[in-house]
Amino acid sequence: MTHASATARALRFPLADPLFYSLQGEGATLGRPSVFARLMGCTVGCAWCDTKYSWAGPPAAELAGEEILAYCRERPGCQVVVTGGEPLESPFFEVLLAMLHEEGLRIEVETSGYLEPSLVALALADQWNVSPKLASAGIAEEKKPRSLGWLHRAKEPYLKFVLHKPAEIAEVDALLQSLGLAGWPPERVIISPGGKKRPEMEKRLLPLAEAALARGFRFTPRLHVLLWGDKRGV
Ligand code: SF4
Repeated sequence: MTHASATARALRFPLADPLFYSLQGEGATLGRPSVFARLMGCTVGCAWCDTKYSWAGPPAAELAGEEILAYCRERPGCQVVVTGGEPLESPFFEVLLAMLHEEGLRIEVETSGYLEPSLVALALADQWNVSPKLASAGIAEEKKPRSLGWLHRAKEPYLKFVLHKPAEIAEVDALLQSLGLAGWPPERVIISPGGKKRPEMEKRLLPLAEAALARGFRFTPRLHVLLWGDKRGV
């Protein structure tokens, strides 16, 4: 164990939800058993955010690094999804990645993409799920990514867009151009339907699936909403 890792194991990580074990509900690894570490804090301010409780403290849990590792060890084969909030705003982000990586755990990071990760973070995470926000999120200009060119240097990068109506797919096309991702492989773009509750999401499934297919984009429902609705910690 390195000195840095011993420090991380003793550090207490502020989380917006207690650690939870569930199926990855969105994206390229949909359905994969995962431990979710929801780091506290987000200043992006999406209008339709379903985790507003993650924006500011107090945290729902503060776990020592060693407790996080013990939780993962009890669930063999799990990966860890580091999410938020906006995990790249958290001062605990890189130290958490380093500790999980040293433990040999596969790591996915969920981010809005407005902050560029460091080279250290890029080396530590195994998959990046980046969700630039569309106009429906109503966020301030400074909270939108200026460029996502760094995705070309990331391992397993995916862009994930939550849409509420098929016409929004034109915004996706425009964003790919403006974010330095013209020519980005369409199979690395994932469209998912918005909606906090199952009936809200279900009515969007077919029209959005067809819009995604027409572009060669992937489409996934948000599995956790189908299974558990807007229940927290699943
Ligand atoms: S970036 Fe994520 S956590 Fe932050 S406001 Fe938007 S949806 Fe919510």
